[in-house]
Order: sequence, then structure tokens, then C-alpha cells
Amino acid sequence: MHVEVGAGFEKLYGAAPEGVWAAPGRVNLIGEYTDFNEGFVMPLALPHTALAAVSRRTDGVLRLNSADIDGPLVELRVDGLVPLGDTGWAAYPAGVVWALREAGHAVTGADIHLASTVPTGAGLSSSAALEVVTALALNELYGLGLTRPELARLAQRAENDFVGVPCGVMDQTASACCTEGHALHLDCRDLSVRQVPFDLSAHGLGLLVVDTRVKHALGDGAYAERREGCEEGARRLGVSHLRDVPYAELDAALARLGDDRLRRYVRHVVSDDHRVERVITLLDAGDVRAIGPVLTEGHASLRDDLRISCPELDLAVAAANGAGALGARMTGGGFGGSAVVLAESADVDTITKAITEAFATAGFTAPRVFPAVPSAGARRLA
Ligand code: ADP
Ligand code: MG
Repeated sequence: MHVEVGAGFEKLYGAAPEGVWAAPGRVNLIGEYTDFNEGFVMPLALPHTALAAVSRRTDGVLRLNSADIDGPLVELRVDGLVPLGDTGWAAYPAGVVWALREAGHAVTGADIHLASTVPTGAGLSSSAALEVVTALALNELYGLGLTRPELARLAQRAENDFVGVPCGVMDQTASACCTEGHALHLDCRDLSVRQVPFDLSAHGLGLLVVDTRVKHALGDGAYAERREGCEEGARRLGVSHLRDVPYAELDAALARLGDDRLRRYVRHVVSDDHRVERVITLLDAGDVRAIGPVLTEGHASLRDDLRISCPELDLAVAAANGAGALGARMTGGGFGGSAVVLAESADVDTITKAITEAFATAGFTAPRVFPAVPSAGARRLA
């Protein structure tokens, strides 16, 4: 596909691009709403990627186009980029240019043509893929020498401060740092990462993504509300972030919180950090099948304690487990988006069919089910 993106660039801008880069979407295996609590997450990169064909400019002009969006070429000036100025989809790559310049890097313009196979709005981080592919391309073209975690931080800054979405740093780090055949253990406090072997096919296993293709409006204010609740919980417990509440002290901490809502949020975050640890211990021991029940436990916590699931996600998990999956959970921000399912390779087709049938019986929109092969992070293609 990078040849088409290069050709698309040439048609638009009248010359071949200096290079073509790719950055993947991601799915989070375990560790949800833990990133802004400075805890642990464990995403893996999807085979679906955003591609960017890019050339430098020296005249301060930034031109942006997406093969996936109908509409005119977006033309901006790098010294006129304004946070929260809303330039639609173009705010994601433009925000990266803004964040790089804010950090003191002399990015003097660019022509950019994007195309992506990451489903949008499915909780698979199509936005982070766009940001990271732009950041990596400009880092290499302008010789900025930034590390991948640094690029992830800048991409997050673009989304937080320029686009105005208060996301944590997981999505951008996953897209920038994942490697093929591994899940990424990310410590969201210091951004240290470790590649944890997760070669599913070698174990005769498959991981499915179930995109429910719904997004409930309820989710709009819920992220901010959960985030505020976690911060309040940490304040009342006298820690800077919930990451600082050890799992062994969870019961004692809960006893000190009078408020049921805060108790539920704290229990979710502290127990999900612990589930990340448990999954890592199991994967390091090569006991991949044993992570299934931990995933399902994580779903119950998101449904009952954090209360960010929805009927479609609950049905996807129940139907998968009912058809013999090893475990399943919703993933991402909730109220729609996607679930992940761990299954024996031999059972993948039966489980896919069971989920599809359950959705049809319930009268839900048909879900999109596809395998999540742990894939490479951002890279240069040409
Ligand atoms: P997610 O990251 O979960 O897919 P977001 O709402 O964070 O969902 O990001 C989706 C937005 O990212 C889209 O609405 C669009 O503005 C932008 N985007 C994603 N992919 C593309 C693309 N291929 N071309 C243009 N914009 C895109
Ligand atoms: Mg996003």
C-alpha cells in the first residue's frame, strides 16, 4: 500500500515524497484506565497502519491531505498553528507539528499525504496512528534525534493540548514502541517499556478483536468523570496517583474511602494494575492460556466497578466465553468500541460465528471480528 500512498502524494503535490512511514493502531490486552493513574498497561500493535508520505518544506507552509477523507487540501502555516483551533481531522497531524515546534524543534513546513487502514472510532487508536506516523516522519526528515518514547509524549501532547482530547500516553507509546510478536509492558509513570513475548500462533492460539461498531453518547463525559474520580480517590488516600496504592493494601485503602463511587474506581484501577502484573508473570512463564480468566476478570471489573461497558460489549464477551473462548474483555475507553477475545486457534471460527449470531439475535449492528496479530510498531517503509 505504501506505493499507492507515494503515488497519491506525487499526484497531489507534483513530486515524489522524500519518504513513506507507517504507524499501527493498537489494542490493549490488559490495564484499562490505568495509564493516567501512572500505572501499567499492556497494548500490542495491530497489523492495521496509518501511512504517511512526507516531504519537507522551507517556507513555513504545512499542507495536509488524507486519502480517506473527502475534502480539499488543508493548508496551514506552521507559525500560525493555534491549539483548539479545530481544523477537523487535520488537527491530529498539525498538532504534532505544533508540539514539535513548541518543544523547540525547527520544523519549517511539510507536505503530507496520509492513508490508514486503522478503523476509526473503534477504540483502536486511529488518531494515535496518525500522530505517531507524522511525528516519526518529521523526526527522521528533520534529523531531530528524538527517541520513540519522546515522540510518543509529543504526539500525546498534540492530542491533549492541540486537538483537546485528554488521553493518556498509552496509545501513542504502543504505536511508536511495539514490536512484532510481543505485547508492550509500559510503565506509565516513567514510560519505561519491556517487550513481553506474545507469539500467539506458536502456542496454537488466536486473539480476536470484536469491533461492536457502536459508540454510545454516554461515553462523552464519562472519561473525564472517571478520571476526576480517580484523582479524588488518590487525594483522599494521600498518594499522588492510584499507582501508589499497593494491591496488598487495597482492602485497607477501600475501608478508608467513604464514598461508594470512589471505592469502585479505586478498586478497578488498583486491581487492574495487579492484573497486568499477573498477565506478565504468566506470559514470562510461557503459560499463555492461563491469562484468559484474568482477561475475563478484567471485564467484570470494567463492567461492575468502573461501569464503562455497554450491552454490546457484555454480549461480545459472554458469547465468546460461552462458545469456548479462554477469556475476553472489553478494551479501550468503553461504551462501545471493541472487545478482545483469547481463543484456541481451532475455536476461532466457531467463536466468531457465535458472536455474530448473538448480535443478530439481540438486534445489534453486525460486529466486525478480525484477528489481532501482534505486529510491528512505527517504521519507515520507503
Ligand atoms: P480512535 O482513535 O479510537 O480511532 P478517535 O476519535 O480518537 O478514535 O480518532 C478518530 C479521528 O481521527 C477521526 O474522527 C479523524 O478525525 C481522525 N482520523 C483517523 N484516521 C484518519 C484518516 N485515515 N484520515 C483522516 N483522519 C483520520
Ligand atoms: Mg483516539
